[in-house]
Parts: sequence; structure tokens; C-alpha cells
Amino acid sequence: MMKKRRALVTGSTSGIGLGIARALASEGCDLVLNGFGERDMIDKLRDTLSREFQVEVFHNGSDLSQPGGCVALVTDAETRMGGIDVLVNNAGIQYTSRLEDFPPERWDAIIAVNLSAAFHIIRRALPGMRQQAWGRIINIASAHGLVASVEKSAYVAAKHGLVGLTKVVALETAESGITCNAICPGWVLTPLVQKQIDARAANTGVTAEQAAAALLAEKQPTRRFTTVDQIGGMVLFLCTDAAANLTGASLPVDGGWTAQ
Ligand code: NAD
Repeated sequence: MMKKRRALVTGSTSGIGLGIARALASEGCDLVLNGFGERDMIDKLRDTLSREFQVEVFHNGSDLSQPGGCVALVTDAETRMGGIDVLVNNAGIQYTSRLEDFPPERWDAIIAVNLSAAFHIIRRALPGMRQQAWGRIINIASAHGLVASVEKSAYVAAKHGLVGLTKVVALETAESGITCNAICPGWVLTPLVQKQIDARAANTGVTAEQAAAALLAEKQPTRRFTTVDQIGGMVLFLCTDAAANLTGASLPVDGGWTAQ
């Protein structure tokens, strides 16, 4: 289905982005990975994906907190692959604190990586997609793009912003063969969430397993983490013809979190 499609997945050296990259590679997509990490780890990742699925895999380590890094990433991806068919804006960071104590520089960083990067990357990638009259833009928002939680002002603001940006892009591309949707995961067990579990365990004097169970009980009615493979599967679905008229949507994969 996706043989020789060309995908750019931001923040794909870890967690959800890596799961999405794997899913796209498994369907025959060439890939540009992005994100931080040790050179050896990234080289191994590229080798494994490209050997296992017989696809081309590149890595570009641009820092997406900088508009110039976002533009350079798209330029490099277009040059290496000859174009971009599937763009997944996934890179994201988190910081938790009550508003009065929230460091302004943390606010700026979260807005830059979780929201502004998607704007800069989509802006730079759209002309190429319009020219080929086909494109899939998928923004990884969050349940926090639909509802709020305490101590996550910057994250919730950025993810609500990303849901809004998704709608505008969908409207502006409605007649062009391009779709733009947001996926809104609930809890997915990745390094980003493990940090929150570890902090909760330390603050409440319980084990990491107990802290994870409490985290799920509080928000996610299924009491199960969404897996990175399930998010990857959702991305693949959005690339099918069945989803060709699905645009501007924010799709929760959250174990019932936002149904409450
Ligand atoms: P993660 O920490 O495992 O991975 C984040 C990725 O982003 C890494 O590859 C990292 O190197 C990259 N990254 C961070 N800052 C960057 C920067 N300045 N420039 C380029 N790359 C950068 O996190 P994850 O849990 O896999 O999260 C991925 C996305 O999913 C994020 O947008 C996050 O908000 C969203 N999300 C996660 C969950 C969850 O429960 N894990 C739930 C909802 C939404």
C-alpha cells in the first residue's frame, strides 16, 4: 500500500515517533527520522529498520525548537527522498509545575517544540505536497489537546493549539488531495511518561508499578496504556484510501479518557 511513499517523522528516535516510523517502514515507506540521541544508537536504529523492511532510512538531528532547524529538516528530507508524502509532527517535550512556579523558559520551549515546530514544518512542506497533489499530515497532539489537567499549562496550551492548527491546515488544503488530522493519545508508556511515573512514585513513596496504576486509574478508564504500535496503526489508517475524506479531525486513542 505504502511502497515507496516517503515519510518524515519528527521526534522518531524514541517512543511514539519510533513506533510510527516502524509502522510506516513495515509498509514499505522510505523514511527520514529526526530526534536526539547517541550517534551509535541512531545508526543502529537506521540499520535495523532499513534491513528489516528493505527501505531507505535517513536521520536528520535538527533541533525543532528553532525555526531554522524546522526548515532545514524539511529541505533535507525533500533532497534525500525526492519529496515528502507523509509528514508526522510528533516531537514533543513536557514539564509539570503549578502556573505560579512554571519557569517562563520552559513555557517558551514547550510552545516552540510542541506547537510552533509543526507550523514551520507544515508551512515549508506544503508547496511540495500541493505540487504532487497528495499528502498526509498527521499531528500527534494528546488527550491534553482536548481536555486539561493541572500543572501542564504549557503542554495543554500547545496541544490545544496543535488541534486548532490541524483544523486550519485541513480547511486550506481541502481540495488538494492533502489531509491533515491530529491523533490524541492518552497515556502511552514511553520515556516521556516514565519520567512522570518515577516522579509520582518518588513523591508518594510507592513503587513505579503502583504509580503507573494510579496514573491510569485517574484518567484512563481501560486502565491500560495505549501502545506505540496502536498509534502507528492509526497513522497507517490515515494514509489509506478509506481515510481520504477524513480531514480536520482530532482522533482520541485514549482508553476512554476524553469520553468522561
Ligand atoms: P519521547 O520523549 O519518548 O520522544 C520524544 C522525541 O522527540 C524524541 O525522539 C526526542 O529526541 C524528540 N525531541 C525532543 N525535543 C526535540 C527537539 N527540540 N528537536 C527535535 N526532536 C526533539 O516522547 P513520546 O512520549 O514518544 O512523545 C511523542 C509525542 O507524543 C509528543 O508530542 C507527546 O506530547 C505526544 N504524546 C505522548 C503521550 C504519552 O503518553 N507518551 C500521550 C499523548 C501525546
